[in-house]
Amino acid sequence: MKTILVVEDEPAIAHLVRDYLEQAGFAVLVTRDGNEALRRAQATLPDLVVLDLGLPGRDGLDVTRELRRSSDVPIIVVTARGEETDRIVGLELGADDYVTKPFSPKELVARVRAVFRRSETRQETAETIRAADLEIDVPRMRVTIGERLVDLTATEFQLLVALAREPGRVFTRSQLLDALHGVAFESYERAIDAHIKNIRRKVEPSPGAPRYIQTVYGVGYRFAES
Ligand code: CA
Repeated sequence: MKTILVVEDEPAIAHLVRDYLEQAGFAVLVTRDGNEALRRAQATLPDLVVLDLGLPGRDGLDVTRELRRSSDVPIIVVTARGEETDRIVGLELGADDYVTKPFSPKELVARVRAVFRRSETRQETAETIRAADLEIDVPRMRVTIGERLVDLTATEFQLLVALAREPGRVFTRSQLLDALHGVAFESYERAIDAHIKNIRRKVEPSPGAPRYIQTVYGVGYRFAES
């Protein structure tokens, strides 16, 4: 059974989320505090973290940053309506997805499942994609630049593979969302931009002048043709 750590300081929301996730077949741990969340994450190694950004004391963005130092655990951040900057910063810090309060618990469960599908997508056939110094070992979910191993989250990995499999093809943001098995409950375009920014930071020799992932203005992104 997969374990989900829910970090939420509002008891009513924490209870609701716990009920729905348990009904969906997950084991759920709840904590209300950022520091406690970090301790629990280290001690229990959950399979996914649902993290409210507005926490007393240590805030959710700080918790995201700290978690990402040592872990690729999938993270879904929860933000209040109108806090778009927080959502984008959360994604840039390596969160996989977000939901906005007030959200329906069903939406959250759907997003949790989508994130799990992403990290479980293993390819049956051996496939290695190469472009210049970049090498993607698809079944092993390993990316290297020359000799250097690149550490990508499951979300970043799936995006990179989708682009790199079809060099030259222009993908719209909504097509990239499909490639992530994403759940389009609301506009996700800026989320795709945040993930692309992360991938570039990790794989591009010079992120300001991308060699691999090119922006097609007004449309989306494409992987460079060699
Ligand atoms: Ca809160």
